[in-house]
Amino acid sequence: MEETLFDRIIAGEIPADIVFENDHALAFRDINPQAPVHVLVVPRTRMRSIAEAPEQDPRELGCFVQAIAETAKALGLEEGGYRVVFNTGKDALQTVPYIHAHILGGRRLSWPPG
Ligand code: 5GP
Repeated sequence: MEETLFDRIIAGEIPADIVFENDHALAFRDINPQAPVHVLVVPRTRMRSIAEAPEQDPRELGCFVQAIAETAKALGLEEGGYRVVFNTGKDALQTVPYIHAHILGGRRLSWPPG
């Protein structure tokens, strides 16, 4: 699999505004925020998208999901709520082929997304 931007952020080769990290995942602010709080969470175990989840270790996937929730909590989003988005493939406009969860919050979000 080719190296992506997020591999380089995880490796510390490209700076990022990190808001949460543990042994399993890293969370950093999106460079082009779409909400007052817009953070990306990536697992340290690489996969291209959530479409590859069935081939992954379920314990690692569980730790990734827990890291998403812990990030949202650390950002103070628990009370007001937040949205978690996995853009997957071309119709969803996934631009970085390394799985990432968008956490969006800090305002009332509209539904459905465009
Ligand atoms: P996707 O469209 O693949 O779901 O989301 C990729 C996200 O990465 C976009 O929201 C985009 O703004 C963000 N992004 C692109 N380049 C950078 C970067 O260099 N640093 C950070 N922090 N975010 C980036």
